[in-house]
Amino acid sequence: MTPEFSMCVYCGSRPGEQPQFAAAATAVGHWIGQRGGQLVYGGGRTGLMGTVAEATRAAGGRVIGIIPKALVDRELANTLCDELHIVDTMHERKAMMGERADAFVALPGGIGTFEELFEIWTWRQLGYHDKPVGILNVEGYYDGLLGFLAHSVRAGFMGEWQMDLMHTLSEPEALLNWLLDHRGGQGQSGLLAKNV
Ligand code: AMP
Repeated sequence: MTPEFSMCVYCGSRPGEQPQFAAAATAVGHWIGQRGGQLVYGGGRTGLMGTVAEATRAAGGRVIGIIPKALVDRELANTLCDELHIVDTMHERKAMMGERADAFVALPGGIGTFEELFEIWTWRQLGYHDKPVGILNVEGYYDGLLGFLAHSVRAGFMGEWQMDLMHTLSEPEALLNWLLDHRGGQGQSGLLAKNV
């Protein structure tokens, strides 16, 4: 059966200190599975990445994992994925994640999550794609970052319109519904592939 949609989830390869982080990852996976969707993610079994994949599968959703070969052991490549793509480079991974998804959401995570979020957001502002991008601000995890971004707007290095390209909410269902309702992206993926 063709999935209803593909949701790309960026999140930590670690679980984080607060149980609410894993609870949010579980809620996201359940939502994807229950809606007949497909998860696109980094393909690992560690941390929140493993949690979201497991929850998606448990709720009957399809899972696509995309992992660079150098990380297969470090991030414990998830052989339970419906599709597990082992690619040569991190660039290939991120480009494929961008191609295969209809929308993107960042959960709490570390440097890898930030890099993926910022890349897909900058691709959006450059017009390489027109797919919605969201931040799930669990327990205020991203408050500091959002404060800094507001500072950057005030300092004249960013426009409000760029902030408007990223949607932030703290409640998983509300954010995922918003992302689903704002799906675009038709005809843009070729552009994205050409520009990475
Ligand atoms: P982290 O948020 O640091 O736990 O990483 C989450 C995911 O982002 C992991 O699957 C990392 O492999 C991935 N990632 C993507 N781009 C990078 C990068 N440039 N450096 C480190 N990790 C990255």
